[in-house]
Amino acid sequence: MTQTAAKPPGTALARYEAVIGLEVHAQLLTVSKMFCGCSAAYTDAAPNDNTCPVCLGLPGVLPVINRQAIEFTIRTAIALECEIPEFTKFDRKNYFYPDLPKGYQISQYDTPLSRNGRMEFPVGGEAVHCGITRVHLEEDTGTLHHAGDVLQSAPESFVDFNRSGVPLMEIVGEPDLRTAEQAREYLMRMRQLLMYIGVNDGNLEQGSFRCDANISLRPHGRAELGTKVEVKNMNSFRAVHRALQFEIERQASLLESGAAILQETRGWVETLGRTVSQRSKEYAHDYRYFPEPDLPPLRLDSEFVERVRASLPELPAATARRFAKQYGLSAYDAAVLTAAREDADTYESVVGSGVPAKLAANWLMGDVAALANEHRLAPRESGLGVAGLSRLLTLLDSGAINGPTAKELLVELYVAGGDPDAIVRERGLGQVGDESELEALVEAAIAANPAAVSDFRRGKQQALGQLMRHVKEATGGRADMPQVNRLLRERLSG
Ligand SMILES: [Zn+2]
Repeated sequence: MTQTAAKPPGTALARYEAVIGLEVHAQLLTVSKMFCGCSAAYTDAAPNDNTCPVCLGLPGVLPVINRQAIEFTIRTAIALECEIPEFTKFDRKNYFYPDLPKGYQISQYDTPLSRNGRMEFPVGGEAVHCGITRVHLEEDTGTLHHAGDVLQSAPESFVDFNRSGVPLMEIVGEPDLRTAEQAREYLMRMRQLLMYIGVNDGNLEQGSFRCDANISLRPHGRAELGTKVEVKNMNSFRAVHRALQFEIERQASLLESGAAILQETRGWVETLGRTVSQRSKEYAHDYRYFPEPDLPPLRLDSEFVERVRASLPELPAATARRFAKQYGLSAYDAAVLTAAREDADTYESVVGSGVPAKLAANWLMGDVAALANEHRLAPRESGLGVAGLSRLLTLLDSGAINGPTAKELLVELYVAGGDPDAIVRERGLGQVGDESELEALVEAAIAANPAAVSDFRRGKQQALGQLMRHVKEATGGRADMPQVNRLLRERLSG
């Protein structure tokens, strides 16, 4: 079963086109599970604490549909421009696995909550369009803890049903992606979108946002699809990129040597940097789907759908376009500032308080982002808060304090908090910007550094640094340095 492949030469790779389709599984941020009242916060409890007869699959109990999960799925479907049929129902997907206590998973087969959506995003300056086949709703399984990894045989395994029955949304993408870069970008955009609309927490490491990929190769120009391989176990964007790149090279090499591609499921093994065969792929009919007899079919009236539509926030791509236009930002800056909804809200609050758009962008993407990262504390949760940050940048913009003072205060107050206006007043941190005061300081610097003055006059530009430092130190770092620079140059050229 194991297919190995040497890395093919670039020319062999160039003969093939990859066809990639992604399936995203996203746990919904509901309070309770999909069909029972147990808490959906499955990592917060001791193993098997968040369970009841329904999610343990005991006989004689009945599931009840979680309304919030339906609403979150519809929210996603609308954000992905899907059609939402009036009629939908749940089905049983039958298979045996130790993490599935009922012996079937409640899912959706032929009547999903939505179909025919789309997503569009740029990669390398070109627009990529990816169709969305469907967004449907199902329940998550329990988790198995093996005493080993995928390559070792575990002597024992444990099962935890806390995750059993957590609402799980599946977003099936059309096979419209052609490169590992496009696949990675698609996933990053999908995660951003789900977090923007508040339905998923986007945690790849914990698996609340996860993806499987289907990938096949075909010679350029051929419409017919090649044999597809399913790739699993990718729990970072980097892993997705590496795994797909590996598969493209592996399959190209096999095709080049005249071998056939096996239809199978392969797992990405991060430590080996390669995919390994897990099992030959089962077909849909193996599952023997049939309508779930314990749940009524649903009719989604248009009033409900329209209410969900009206409650959606501005979506990230639209926010980025608006930021670029409204605030005169580059496409790059607009994309960074809208990476998360909280970031976009923070930016708009700061600019709304009167701080110039470009100044706010530079500080939020620079010093503030660095502090947020270092302390794992977003601006709104920081000691300064968004209001304090706005005040600090207002003091800077008005010339009341200079750049270095603003930077020092930001570092000091970001975690500790405090009122920037009061601190500047109490400590006398106000910028020395009065022209006659600065002129006197410039004169003093010139008088005290005759050697630097003559060096500068002989054309040695660096000599100005010594004179600038003199003024800076004389004011305890509070001088308006661009003005000092101008005054020194005027005085020395005269
Ligand atoms: Zn339960």
